[in-house]
Amino acid sequence: MNKVKIILAGPRGKMGLEALKMISETPQFELVAAIDSRNDGLQVKDLTGAPNSMDATVYDDIERCLDAIQADVLIDLTKPDIGKRHLEIALNYGVRTVIGTTGFTNEDLERLSQLAHDKKTGAIIAPNFAIGAILMMKFSQMAAKYLPDIEIIEKHHDQKLDAPSGTALKTAQLITEVREAKGQGHPDETEELTGSRGAEWQGIRIHSVRLPGLVAHQEVMFGGEGQLLTIRHDSMNRASFMPGVKMAIEHVMHIEGLVYGLENIME
Ligand code: NAP
Repeated sequence: MNKVKIILAGPRGKMGLEALKMISETPQFELVAAIDSRNDGLQVKDLTGAPNSMDATVYDDIERCLDAIQADVLIDLTKPDIGKRHLEIALNYGVRTVIGTTGFTNEDLERLSQLAHDKKTGAIIAPNFAIGAILMMKFSQMAAKYLPDIEIIEKHHDQKLDAPSGTALKTAQLITEVREAKGQGHPDETEELTGSRGAEWQGIRIHSVRLPGLVAHQEVMFGGEGQLLTIRHDSMNRASFMPGVKMAIEHVMHIEGLVYGLENIME
């Protein structure tokens, strides 16, 4: 069987280093190049923390990289504006793409979906690669049909810039596909301190905790008469995302068009 030839953008980052490790440990994957804003011309094995067996050239420019290197899949683990740009360029080159960054608007998704379709190329954007988190969302959607009073508590490291997390919002959106909008709590409740009841999405309250020491955690609490159900997921480190990255790479080899969200490739 031919190996899947991979270019990785962001190899020095926390996610990038985990991805290098995962690629080096996966016999059917082969790293053929990396894209890094620094270190042009070095070998990946020269980057601090990279597996020392990786003979693949580092490029500081995606177009020069794609002109020089034949690849099956580009993985992007950089930052939102760069991920978006890399996806568009890779699709124009007809290279399949797996994107781990966020920040895509509905207009972006429509345009990129059309581009992937026109180029007959597959692409997956996965705002959350943690398979357990995807299951948490799916299970929450199931539970919401029967226990419609729900609050979401998401907890992340204190370097996270956006709140609520994309996963919390996505969970609320999936729940409201099966649950009517409804008010929760006492109809006359007031906030003595603004924000104390959290953000609101169609009646669901979302609370964001930011503390050093946390990685990425979420609890979805369902309240019913005399009972509570809590569905909880914890990502302890960035290795937790790698089975999802691997699944996305394997899947993107067999699709045409753009898939947004790993939940759409999990049965
Ligand atoms: P990080 O440690 O800050 O790594 C980001 C890396 O991207 C840095 O090495 C950075 O290099 C590099 N970079 C920036 N601009 C670049 C460019 N133009 N070309 C190539 N590389 C560039 O962050 P992280 O924790 O690894 O996260 C990486 C991304 O994945 C973030 O967008 C994060 O939100 C996302 N993420 C996604 C998931 C998921 O499940 N989908 C999970 C965790 C994180 P410099 O140091 O030179 O800037």
